[in-house]
Amino acid sequence: MSNVVGMNDFIGLASGNSYCWLCQKPVSTRALFCPVCGTIQPVRDIDHFARLGIECRLDIDMDNLEKQYTTLGCMLAEERFLIRGIGERGHAAKQREALKDAYETLREPLRRGRYWLQINEKEAEETADSNPLVAELRRELLDAADPLRCDRVAQRAGQALEQGVMILMQALRGGNWAEANKTLSQIDGVESVLSEVRERRSDLTMQARE
Ligand SMILES: [Zn+2]
Repeated sequence: MSNVVGMNDFIGLASGNSYCWLCQKPVSTRALFCPVCGTIQPVRDIDHFARLGIECRLDIDMDNLEKQYTTLGCMLAEERFLIRGIGERGHAAKQREALKDAYETLREPLRRGRYWLQINEKEAEETADSNPLVAELRRELLDAADPLRCDRVAQRAGQALEQGVMILMQALRGGNWAEANKTLSQIDGVESVLSEVRERRSDLTMQARE
């Protein structure tokens, strides 16, 4: 029979129960408020999907995301904690911050893709350091002697970025982590080229004025 008790304990732990910091009663890890005393709970280590109470999948329902963010944001609104103690106000502020971070990560496809890879990847993959497309864009940028040619490089880089995000999402949907990693490192490279283009363009514009 001791086995059964042990099993129950295990299930209790596995369901991720935590304890209210104030009244010490069990609360779900996802709970914002204690069901017993109603006190705001500290930020706990849960994933962004759980934090927003949405289904954990790569292709999310954007309307649902907005709706959940608004609803939870209202529950955590600063004015609701004005008459509370410093501890509760502090937890509420941290919860708002965590909620905003989760929302901003999931809202944007590229950030969501990065996050998805991070939580799903079974083993860290070495990313290739040489990337033909990025190298080519860099070469083009080196040759760009006027703002117009910079704009052309920027346009190509922008297209590559857009395409990269599509390929990334495809790879993530298929659980192809190696491909996702490769694509992500290409995206990083293209993003850095884009910021170099902006710099070069403003340098060239300044030179033209002198
Ligand atoms: Zn409590």
